[in-house]
Amino acid sequence: MNGKIPLPASGRPAIGTKTDHWHLCPVAIDRTGGTALPDENQTPEAAVVPHVPDTDGDACVNASQSETDPGADAPEADSAQAPRYERIHLRVTLASIALSIALPLAFLLAGWSEALRDVVEGWTGSAGPAALVILIYLLIVMLAFEVVTFPLDIYSGHFVERQFGLSRSTLGQWLIDWAKAQALQLVFLVAAVELIYLLLRELPGTWWLVAGAGFTLFFVVLAALAPVLLFRIFFKFEPLPDGELKDRLLALSLRLGVYVRGVYIWKLGEKTSKANAALAGWGRTRRILLADTLIDEHSTDEIEVVLAHEMAHQVHHDIWKGLAIQTALVFVAFYAVHLALDAWTEPLGLRSVSDIANLPLLLLVSGAVALLALPVANGLSRRMEHAADVYALEKTGMTGPFASAMERLSEQNLSRRRPNRIIELVLHSHPSVESRIEFARQWEREHRAADTGSSATEQS
Ligand SMILES: [Zn+2]
Repeated sequence: MNGKIPLPASGRPAIGTKTDHWHLCPVAIDRTGGTALPDENQTPEAAVVPHVPDTDGDACVNASQSETDPGADAPEADSAQAPRYERIHLRVTLASIALSIALPLAFLLAGWSEALRDVVEGWTGSAGPAALVILIYLLIVMLAFEVVTFPLDIYSGHFVERQFGLSRSTLGQWLIDWAKAQALQLVFLVAAVELIYLLLRELPGTWWLVAGAGFTLFFVVLAALAPVLLFRIFFKFEPLPDGELKDRLLALSLRLGVYVRGVYIWKLGEKTSKANAALAGWGRTRRILLADTLIDEHSTDEIEVVLAHEMAHQVHHDIWKGLAIQTALVFVAFYAVHLALDAWTEPLGLRSVSDIANLPLLLLVSGAVALLALPVANGLSRRMEHAADVYALEKTGMTGPFASAMERLSEQNLSRRRPNRIIELVLHSHPSVESRIEFARQWEREHRAADTGSSATEQS
């Protein structure tokens, strides 16, 4: 029941606790960071929305470069390691999904879940409070799941990253991060499960509505707190220092009329050579996060176009759209669980809908909803990403730096330029690098043609 077991919220734990799972997209400079420009987008907005899993391990911006004119050459081939890296991550993803189905199924069908509930009730006495039984049951189940899934976690999270030269963490550092993530997850999971079963006991007919509303509120609050609280558990951040980059950002924000509340350097480089950029938080916590690995490896022009992409997420209110998608998913998942508990509690020989022994059923049904929703959620995410690319190109006209940034990012993050179409449709939250570069070139051709056309008209 770690990150591999989908919780009722989305294709991954509602709270992304694993550092490699945070995928923030949309961004902004706080007053301390500088740049302030009142405009219509000043309303509280963004929050960090944990994206659905994305096997390319890419970022909001997903690119890489070769100082060539992007309008000219065809996209280069994948780096030699990218297909192998993708293959390994795909296998790990499939294995995780298989485990997240097999483990609850085994608990349910082999009678382990009921046996465990009986044992825990024996310890606490028949008059023991339900919340205590749930807590102990949950701790034991989580421990069992952890034992089974830990090898996969450490293999994909540490050893594969080391093998491909991406990780800069020692095994000890990785284990510390892993332990922090598990502790966070434990807290969130215990709170969520206790709340759900309290509602199942008290409001068996409408619990899913109340639980859905409670989770939505939690996501909204978490989205605001994540950049100031959650991320800092795993990463260091510092305000963007004065200099050329900050001046460029300020000028860009003035030109676009986008109020940027804060831009922070995200110290990813201590842990990985991968790059990322994101818009996180909403209201006072809204900020643009730029990885130091991005700043080190990219030209100022490339970073500027990346910033324009992140500003687009702010202008388009993408954090709220992401939260809306997540909310819809939560309600659908809880309603499906409600129907399943009603239908199967008796046939499975369980006592009632609020019997903790039915937890594996709850996990299976919510996990199935999350899995089925994955292509839809990722499809919507890819649309938002494309719209952000369009905005960045239209507002800056920097097709060259855009394409080279994409090239460079795909090399840096070992993402495939053109992934398998089905894998892309189901698992990727961002369009492929190749299609993004292709779009930039097409955009440039069209605008060049339009410019030529209009100047010809003026002359005649
Ligand atoms: Zn993005």
